[in-house]
Amino acid sequence: KLSKRLEKVSQFIKEGAVVADIGSDHGYLPVYLTDTGKSPFVIAGDVNEGPLSSAREQIIKHNLNDKIKAKLGSGLAVLEGESVDTVVIAGMGGPLIASILDKDKELLKGVNRLVLQPNVASDHVRKWLFDNGWNLVDEAILEEDDHVYEIAVAEKGNARKNYSSMLEKELWMGPCLLKNKNSAFEKKWKRELAQLEKIDKQLETAVTRPGLREKKQDIKMKITWLKEE
Ligand code: SAM
Repeated sequence: KLSKRLEKVSQFIKEGAVVADIGSDHGYLPVYLTDTGKSPFVIAGDVNEGPLSSAREQIIKHNLNDKIKAKLGSGLAVLEGESVDTVVIAGMGGPLIASILDKDKELLKGVNRLVLQPNVASDHVRKWLFDNGWNLVDEAILEEDDHVYEIAVAEKGNARKNYSSMLEKELWMGPCLLKNKNSAFEKKWKRELAQLEKIDKQLETAVTRPGLREKKQDIKMKITWLKEE
């Protein structure tokens, strides 16, 4: 059985899509997608031999040799020579996901959907999508085992489409998530507000140093945004 997090990721994959799961590790998602018949073919990529061999074990165990190809390689490099509809990158930090996308972005040429699940700092992912012509078509936020996870779904097109004049705030918090708040969203930002207020207080008595003024302003602005919600 898939975790609630990966189950949600799978819901954003279209029926019949050929998928590449980058950083697949145990290979649970590729096994689920092919076993259920949702995907005819999945590439399970990982940069490390250890995780890839555990994916291979899963493939053999489920007799899915003809439907899942395990490939050793860094990031999008495993897309070379393949024809893929959807790329999934899940279970990593936002900055790592953004750097994987940025490194070999020409390999995304034939790809029409990205399903990205940053564990932290999802704003880095939204920013990359925005800067690189990917339209954020959907988002999700959920809680599992006291951790809050976000999912960003993007398709090629007008990257500005889902954003308003509150661009900075929406890149930070997620334009779709702001429109459909749930308990996970409330929990995440309540925690964040408490954290920022603590830092704000500490900075009041901080010794002046380069960049401190900007840092204080940034925190005050974020506190204002959070209090609006
Ligand atoms: N995607 C799975 C999930 O969401 O449950 C596994 C996430 S696991 C925490 C992260 C995996 O990403 C590890 O197996 C690691 O080896 C792999 N990884 C890290 N950097 C990578 C990169 N640049 N390219 C491919 N895989 C990478």
